[in-house]
Amino acid sequence: MKEILLCKYGEIILKGANRRYFEDMLERQLKRKARAHGNFNVYRAQSTLYVEPLDEAADMDGMLADACRVFGIISIARAAVCEKSMESICATVKQYIPSALAGKRSFKVEAKRSDKRFPLTSIQLSQEIGGRLAEAHPGVEVDVHHPDYTVYVEVRDLSAYVHGPAEPGAGGLPTGVGGRAMVLLSGGIDSPVAAYMMAKRGVEVEAVHFFSYPYTSQLAKDKVIELARLVTKYSGRMTVNVVSFTEIQEAIRDNCPEEFFTLIMRRFMMEIAQRIAKGDGCGALITGENLGQVASQTMEAMTVTGAVVDIPIFMPLVGMDKKDIISIAREIGTLDTSILPYEDCCTVFTPKHPKTKPTLGQVENAEKKLDREALIARALENVEKIK
Ligand code: ATP
Ligand code: MG
Repeated sequence: MKEILLCKYGEIILKGANRRYFEDMLERQLKRKARAHGNFNVYRAQSTLYVEPLDEAADMDGMLADACRVFGIISIARAAVCEKSMESICATVKQYIPSALAGKRSFKVEAKRSDKRFPLTSIQLSQEIGGRLAEAHPGVEVDVHHPDYTVYVEVRDLSAYVHGPAEPGAGGLPTGVGGRAMVLLSGGIDSPVAAYMMAKRGVEVEAVHFFSYPYTSQLAKDKVIELARLVTKYSGRMTVNVVSFTEIQEAIRDNCPEEFFTLIMRRFMMEIAQRIAKGDGCGALITGENLGQVASQTMEAMTVTGAVVDIPIFMPLVGMDKKDIISIAREIGTLDTSILPYEDCCTVFTPKHPKTKPTLGQVENAEKKLDREALIARALENVEKIK
């Protein structure tokens, strides 16, 4: 029996002139994923993307798992394809559904006729197919209100399709429709989640990581690369710009008052990230900041760090509780890597009593002995780009 994936993308966001663009982007993402799983034909009709295997070798399980991670899709049904006749539909239901009914007490059939040339209405179809399926399975009752299992039949323009409950899709908007932004990616729990959340809003994500060898180890860097790789399962390809931060951190340690260390360091991070971002066509920065979580995440501190940047800084986690951030990290598969115990450059030279309510004037004064421009220029000379 021939199977196909029916990927639905909902109607709400499709209104207006952007619809075509949205659909093109989504089709492109699915095609890119499909290439990794064999020979598939990906096409669209009636607000649905069809993913059709072209030979036996095409890996439907792998393709289904990947389709569940494509942003913009709200559900994916793995369905049997059949001809648009009652005979063919009923034969397919009888052959395709029985194993799913095993152990169930009740079922219903929900048929939808979107090809209005088909002679039976949706209700007539549901009743007819439900009746025949019940005859073939005397132990399972029809229950239209609270069934244990629902059989779906869709009579569409191209063919008819039979399937069980659909898998939930990743939701959000297709990657690319929201522009491109650069995430400041640390080895922590928050920033990979922040990258994921912006990718979910259709943003193409690039990354920058600051590392301070020998204060932070190669293992800490590898961990960040691994986190980026995990995020790309959702976001598509990503380049991680690795910036050596040692000289800047040492200069701060040697020339600035301790209570401002973290703030000054973060201002350098932001400014360097912005320059790389602009060079790479990114229109915004993304951070994993969360209001009140640490001393450098107060409103005053954010004002001071944000002052060096003139593009938007997206902080999708700013108002969330840590436990909710952790549950997203677990769901997207980054948590186990994030909690590996390697140091981050933020934890090197941490002040004992960081300033939580700084003013911009104080911080500018605290960093005045530094030659900011020269330090930034040298850091930008040796950026390692890892794809
Ligand atoms: P995370 O869990 O993402 O590390 P955090 O709670 O540890 O966040 P901070 O250490 O204050 O918070 O960092 C705030 C944000 O600054 C991070 O979410 C990340 O976006 C950015 N950041 C921190 N350290 C680095 C780094 N070494 N390289 C790049 N970005 C960083
Ligand atoms: Mg951190």
